[in-house]
Amino acid sequence: MKAAATMIAAAAPAARSAAALSSAVAQIWAWLGAVPDPEIPVISIVDLGIVRDVRVAADGACDITITPTYSGCPAMQVIADAITDALHAHGVVQVRLHNQISPAWTTDWMSEAGKAALKGYGIAPPAQQVIDISGLRAGGRAAAAAVSRRAALAPTVACPHCGSQHTEITSQFGSTPCKALYKCLDCREPFDYFKCH
Ligand SMILES: [Zn+2]
Repeated sequence: MKAAATMIAAAAPAARSAAALSSAVAQIWAWLGAVPDPEIPVISIVDLGIVRDVRVAADGACDITITPTYSGCPAMQVIADAITDALHAHGVVQVRLHNQISPAWTTDWMSEAGKAALKGYGIAPPAQQVIDISGLRAGGRAAAAAVSRRAALAPTVACPHCGSQHTEITSQFGSTPCKALYKCLDCREPFDYFKCH
């Protein structure tokens, strides 16, 4: 840990080389890859795709840019604290967090490893692409109608327990607002579905 922290410090001031800087950034990505999502601890915040950018500034501070999974996600403060704590534990003294709202997080940013971990945890990963903001750009009432129509669609989701497609939605909101609650009609198990955004 001490050596790594020294590496970050060495990468910071005037003497830094591009190679030292990029290895410091890679090290920080690796540390963040070990920070679990507070809501779904089997997936890291990096696999979830919410860490957008990592930089080591000239003053030695780490600038971390994160994008919430949806606006107003209550877990974001917990995630911000977890990032700061993790980097402090590795000897990074100064951590600056930046929230980037746009472009909005999409489930496309979730890694394949992340989707596999979700499934192993009994949460069905996002089943399809539903992102379409063309209606939003048009603005107004038509856009709102298009969005609400889209949100009302319940996609066919395979059961994470038995793989059956014979499932039905029980509630638009599961254990967190990011998820919907489904029930498998074959194995009878309820499960969370991580909604597409
Ligand atoms: Zn099932």
